[in-house]
Amino acid sequence: MHGNGFILVGDAAGLIDPFWGDGIDTAMISGKIAGEILAEVCRGSDYSAAALQKYADTVWSHLGSKFKFNNMFRQRLESPPLVFPFMTRMEMFNKLYFQGAGTLSKLTELAM
Ligand SMILES: Cc1cc2nc3c(=O)[nH]c(=O)nc-3n(C[C@H](O)[C@H](O)[C@H](O)COP(=O)(O)OP(=O)(O)OC[C@H]3O[C@@H](n4cnc5c(N)ncnc54)[C@H](O)[C@@H]3O)c2cc1C
Repeated sequence: MHGNGFILVGDAAGLIDPFWGDGIDTAMISGKIAGEILAEVCRGSDYSAAALQKYADTVWSHLGSKFKFNNMFRQRLESPPLVFPFMTRMEMFNKLYFQGAGTLSKLTELAM
């Protein structure tokens, strides 16, 4: 999402939720971070990829865990017969996503 002399935000940076497919929030978050980082970087004259690395790191620290979690969740739904042979896709979705506490530990358990 960055390189020598450029940074990308929102959809252009691939910040689209891997499960829900939404991206308004991540476009706004990455835009805000980009503004903050560029305010620092533009005080100097180094616009190299190395100087802009902080942007990618900051975006990932804000969004990385959500992306990893939802990506894992999507992968689980892609092959339901291997995970829950006797559940339909919607039953599994309902069970994992909406039935409250323990969802994360359940997913972690399933991922093992
Ligand atoms: C049908 C649909 C429904 C969606 N529903 C949701 C939802 O419910 N919730 C959600 O969070 N997300 C949703 N999304 C995704 C969301 O719209 C995007 O993730 C978000 O708008 C990305 O924002 P952005 O600023 O990165 O890009 P964009 O909103 O695409 O903005 C990019 C802008 O750059 C302009 N542009 C392109 N090329 C040039 C150029 N050469 N010169 C000048 N300007 C240019 C474009 O015209 C556009 O205005 C939906 C997307 C679609 C297609």
